[in-house]
Amino acid sequence: MIIRNARVVTLDAANRVLEGAEVEIGADGAIKRVGEALAGGGLRVVGSPPPTTHNPPTASTVLDARGKLLMPALINCHTHLYSTLARGIPLPGPAPKNFPEILKKLWWRLDRALDLDDVYYSALVGLIESAKNGVGTLVDHHSSPNACAGSLDQVERAFREVGLRGVLCYETSDRDGPEKARAALVENIRFIERTGRGGDGLIAASFGLHASFTLSDRTLRQAVEAEETLGAGFHIHVAEDRSDLDHARRRFHKTVVGRLRDLGVLTDRTLAAHCIHVTAGDIAALAKLGANVAHNPQSNANNAVGIAKLVELMKGGVLVGLGSDGYSPRMWEEFKTAFHLQKVRTGDPRVGYAEAYAAALLNNRAIARKLWGMEIGRIEAGARADLVLVDYYPPTPLDAGNLFGHLLFGIANAPIDTLIVDGRPVIQDKRCVTVDEAAVAERATRQAKALWQRF
Ligand SMILES: [Zn+2]
Repeated sequence: MIIRNARVVTLDAANRVLEGAEVEIGADGAIKRVGEALAGGGLRVVGSPPPTTHNPPTASTVLDARGKLLMPALINCHTHLYSTLARGIPLPGPAPKNFPEILKKLWWRLDRALDLDDVYYSALVGLIESAKNGVGTLVDHHSSPNACAGSLDQVERAFREVGLRGVLCYETSDRDGPEKARAALVENIRFIERTGRGGDGLIAASFGLHASFTLSDRTLRQAVEAEETLGAGFHIHVAEDRSDLDHARRRFHKTVVGRLRDLGVLTDRTLAAHCIHVTAGDIAALAKLGANVAHNPQSNANNAVGIAKLVELMKGGVLVGLGSDGYSPRMWEEFKTAFHLQKVRTGDPRVGYAEAYAAALLNNRAIARKLWGMEIGRIEAGARADLVLVDYYPPTPLDAGNLFGHLLFGIANAPIDTLIVDGRPVIQDKRCVTVDEAAVAERATRQAKALWQRF
């Protein structure tokens, strides 16, 4: 495939904005060539030259992207696709008054009610919505304790059908008893053994753990022992709410980060979601261990659990990416909220720019590369062709120097026209071309009705 006449935001090392550019995608799903239009006509190849630079283009499909902006597909570094069918679910009794009540009254009741079909349709709907919002890769954290065995296969099936890139894990927890914890360990091990940490590049795996306050030392030690052989890295919630920190202090006389570090859970392969209630010592420990953090600003605000110290974490040398925690399929909203909340938290209008930009566009791809070997998040020969075409007609000059302003006030609000993942179109003309969205929604609604009965 060749995409012609696009304005291209490369986000490569040189961070170029190319006008009237051409991007060629190879049959292997990688970007083969990026060419920039020359003033007198013709094209100049930019970036590192591809190995077969003299071969004339033989692509069968040419996509005219005139008037559109081409940029790398977005990445969601922490989400829960199983939450999709909770939309609009009636909650009995008074509204939950804190985070533990939100978990007990909503999420832990929902996950116990899920069957394998719910898991599949939740993922399918969540992935279609993500795709329509320009997200090509999602790092998912799954839980369905009464339909645990094989659940990750259902999530994988949905990823493959929609055609998105994913990292899957199952949420190990002692909250439903030792048998469920054991089953969760088995599901993680089974899936990682089958898939491998980096998988086939499209579907990869990590080892899922819920959070310090629902995991015993015994279960954590079993997980650490298993992970040592598998090398898949943990994906775990860390210090999301004050209650997690209080629990660790009361029971173990440690912070959450301190406890998990001492048990060997935090390594450079670990993805730690949230990290809100962390001390300066915790930040230093996370940086020293090379642990990776996923920031989820909208979910954190919704649950009233606090605002992560994004500025301090990044200054301290922690690699912090951006996720949605299942709150929204729109990563641009997370980007904006991350930006706004740091200003509100610090009272300093100068902060937030570099942090939100780095988390969404630089660190998410760095985490995907570091943990799962995915070469995504940039338009350059050799990178995977995960691309979005955006209907964006800037009314002011656009270049690499003022890209942030265009992202925040323009591109983030502009419709996604096309999404390509691994060289394969998923969204075209704003419609999902891999699965029938209307049919999926209709079937998902039937699933949801039955699920709500059991809730
Ligand atoms: Zn989460």
